[in-house]
Amino acid sequence: MTNNANHRIETIAIHAGQEPDPTTGAIMTPIYQTSTYVQNAPEDHKGYEYSRTDNPTRKAFQELMAGLEGGQFALAFASGMAAIDSVMRLLNPGDHTIVGNDVYGGTFRLFDKILSRYGLTFTYVNPANLDEVQAAIQPATKMIWLETPTNPNLALADIQAIAAMAPDHAWVAVDNTFASPYLQQPLALGADIVVHSTTKYLGGHSDVVGGAVVVNDEAMYQQLKFLQNAIGAVPGPQDVWLTMRGIKTLHLRMDRHSQNALQVAQFLADHPAFSEVIYPGLDTHPQHQLALRQMPRGQGGMISGIMHGGPGVARKLASRTKLFALAESLGGVESLIEHPFSMTHASTANSPIACNPGLVRFSVGVENVDDLIEDLQQALHGL
Ligand SMILES: *Cc1c(COP(=O)(O)O)cnc(C)c1O
Repeated sequence: MTNNANHRIETIAIHAGQEPDPTTGAIMTPIYQTSTYVQNAPEDHKGYEYSRTDNPTRKAFQELMAGLEGGQFALAFASGMAAIDSVMRLLNPGDHTIVGNDVYGGTFRLFDKILSRYGLTFTYVNPANLDEVQAAIQPATKMIWLETPTNPNLALADIQAIAAMAPDHAWVAVDNTFASPYLQQPLALGADIVVHSTTKYLGGHSDVVGGAVVVNDEAMYQQLKFLQNAIGAVPGPQDVWLTMRGIKTLHLRMDRHSQNALQVAQFLADHPAFSEVIYPGLDTHPQHQLALRQMPRGQGGMISGIMHGGPGVARKLASRTKLFALAESLGGVESLIEHPFSMTHASTANSPIACNPGLVRFSVGVENVDDLIEDLQQALHGL
């Protein structure tokens, strides 16, 4: 395996898990579009029996994900939600989870509308307030579920501090989708589980949906692998191949996303239409120092801005940009804009994690930053 622990992340992104094909020399991992594998005799096979259980393209992708997060083991799933659901099935009825109060809307929906029906309990806390996290810990707490930066309020959770305060009976899981492993590596900070929607920055080109889980503990990996096979929320080989192809430029893209986002955030912060612009790379962000420590290479491509004019003006802005396409999702090379209150976070309305109706979320792409700022200038004109 080319997966060399001594390599730096840029090299890992291009090489981990990927060997030239031994029979043909093909430098790129083949798409093993097969459901089953011929065996020599019952139980005498080449390591593959059926593609829900294992597939060589998926195996390469899993090794790549483990390498990127500096973890021992990774598993691939059909989507970020499938990854999150499978992780939560490590729990049993009666188990308690502490959740950041600003999680992805789909995660909240899964916890609140589905998993709560199976006897799991949840307490929502502000993950930026360590006292609040501490106070929520119960004897039944089995999981502390964090996103950082959060979505869409871009608050940070101090992974190292929370991992240090977590009792032995609770795992710390970090949804690392917003930062990507290039900007933040939760396992090194003490987290037990990292999950990804690879649909976003890892895939990076808005052309594939997927998810992944990375862990260091072998027993936990075996349980998750059992769940992956037993539940079957696995990705197809074409999708993981496309995600691997995207990951080869992860470091280049994340550097540019971060540089562009900082400039766009500075432009928005100076614009009178906004009452508040939230970006961890701005020194006005309340956790700017933590951002520099926890995400030293850059603070990512996501910006939220709260508009003086409220939801009406926010919706107008989102409809008037031309380069910033109005769409859900994030993390692609192209810039997107959205209104979380009526789009991605509609499922959180009237809940403890409902978002500000005047908030506009930007996923800043890797285009020329002057073109991006000019687009925002024209869209904001007269608002
Ligand atoms: C998109 C997203 C998810 C869900 O991932 P899918 O691939 O859409 O299922 C989970 N967490 C975060 C932070 C996300 O942005």
